[in-house]
Amino acid sequence: MSLIRHHIGGVESGAAERSGPVFDPATGQSHRRVAFASPVEVDDAVRAAKAALPAWRATGLIKRADVFFRLRQLLVERQDELAQIITSEHGKVLSDAKGEISRGIENVEFAAGLAHLLKSEHSEQVARGVDVHSVKQPVGVVAAVTPFNFPVMVPLWMTATAIACGNTVILKPSEKTPSAAIFLARLYEEAGLPPGVLNVVHGDRVAVDTLLESPDVRAISFVGSTPVARDLYQRAAAKGKRVQALGGAKNHMVVMPDAEIAQAADAAVSAAYGSAGERCMAVSVLVAVGAQTADDLVAAIAERVAVLQIGPGTDAASDMGPLITAEHRDRVAGYVTGAEAEGATVVIDGTTEQFDGDGFFLGASLIDHVRPGTKVYDDEIFGPVLAVVRVESYDEAVALVNASPYANGTALFTRDGATARNFEFDIEVGMVGVNVAIPVPVGSYSFGGWRNSLFGDTHIYGPESINFYTRSKVVTSRWPDRSPSAVSLGFPSNH
Ligand code: NAD
Repeated sequence: MSLIRHHIGGVESGAAERSGPVFDPATGQSHRRVAFASPVEVDDAVRAAKAALPAWRATGLIKRADVFFRLRQLLVERQDELAQIITSEHGKVLSDAKGEISRGIENVEFAAGLAHLLKSEHSEQVARGVDVHSVKQPVGVVAAVTPFNFPVMVPLWMTATAIACGNTVILKPSEKTPSAAIFLARLYEEAGLPPGVLNVVHGDRVAVDTLLESPDVRAISFVGSTPVARDLYQRAAAKGKRVQALGGAKNHMVVMPDAEIAQAADAAVSAAYGSAGERCMAVSVLVAVGAQTADDLVAAIAERVAVLQIGPGTDAASDMGPLITAEHRDRVAGYVTGAEAEGATVVIDGTTEQFDGDGFFLGASLIDHVRPGTKVYDDEIFGPVLAVVRVESYDEAVALVNASPYANGTALFTRDGATARNFEFDIEVGMVGVNVAIPVPVGSYSFGGWRNSLFGDTHIYGPESINFYTRSKVVTSRWPDRSPSAVSLGFPSNH
């Protein structure tokens, strides 16, 4: 059985003493294992990153940008290969895997503009003969901890800007989908990144805890579930590290009575069941305003769900692949089987769908008449389950969304501009779509939710990540000239 190993200082290392199985979710089989880093191995990676830091932060901006231009080209050329790797460990369909790669490439394109992004401010003559300017300097060695569901896009969210800003990085990908990170590290080096600038350590909590304890790790970016995000945020902050920790979600799509029902149904089905619902921006709650809207939508969605093809992600006919593990599939199924007891109506029960083989497949489910306070509504299910909540008015819909502990993304479907504008103003959620069900911002903006969907001050990738991955320094200078000087113990004034 082959072993997926760490990538430290440009060299593959790691033994099978502590390791975990890596499954192909479409077959349920595991033919490979992934090494779990020990504290000593994580420290090796931190040392490699620290050793690479002085030369990398001194590398000229144009030369750094060259790496990203080449990386972009390599990602485009090798996207089929990379998509196969994603699908073989995650299970998502190949077209979806390619979609994730293209969204990740946006972050590489953004990073290629680093010479512009790292420009700072300069004020001439703040006092006679005195100038002030600011500079953005790298934070140092930074850690990136990523979830299973976007094995390429989320590592690129973090590594592209971190490296562009002159930092060196230790990436700890999910132990469930580890191979894409190694592929990315090799691609970065093929693009000209010096060894040690990007290191990958695999593993579990032991690796993350060691990164948190290391005084040389100055900042940490995390994306994963809310309980881990909250805990990691608190522990990293207590150690004085800069930290951004993005957590889970429960995204609501509000449909007004004037919405185009067919378009809203298409969008809801794509956003709820794409990637088997294992997206932090998946729509998991449909909020229908008015009974007629709800009846029409449920009927239109049910029609579409009935014809979804579920099968291996490598099969071009599949719309939806398997879930990540057998345990997760069973957990998701439990929400559906328990829904009626909570007073909801199961319109389509995906748990009854039969599949050949041992893959972690589950059919798509649609549950109507769901209410807050039930498990189906309150929990992040992270599977192919769409809950429908019926409300009477726009105000009730907004109050519902604003009361959710999660606030990653939300969407409004309407044909009325004034309602859309009010929604944008009223809604307390980090990313908002107007007739766009999955409003993941383009790479030139930043991504992040509110409340339990993000702990920290800065959103991830885009302009806010430049602030996260740099420290500002302000220089006040005066050059000796012919003007007379004198001793003064007063506080320096610019008047
Ligand atoms: P997870 O929290 O289980 O794991 C995320 C990472 O943390 C992995 O690398 C894992 O090895 C590590 N980890 C797990 N438990 C840990 C612990 N106790 N201490 C330290 N590290 C630990 O998340 P997951 O199951 O891989 O991913 C799915 C979750 O991620 C969902 O909740 C989803 O909403 C969320 N997610 C959020 C976003 C976002 O942008 N907000 C994006 C993608 C996924």
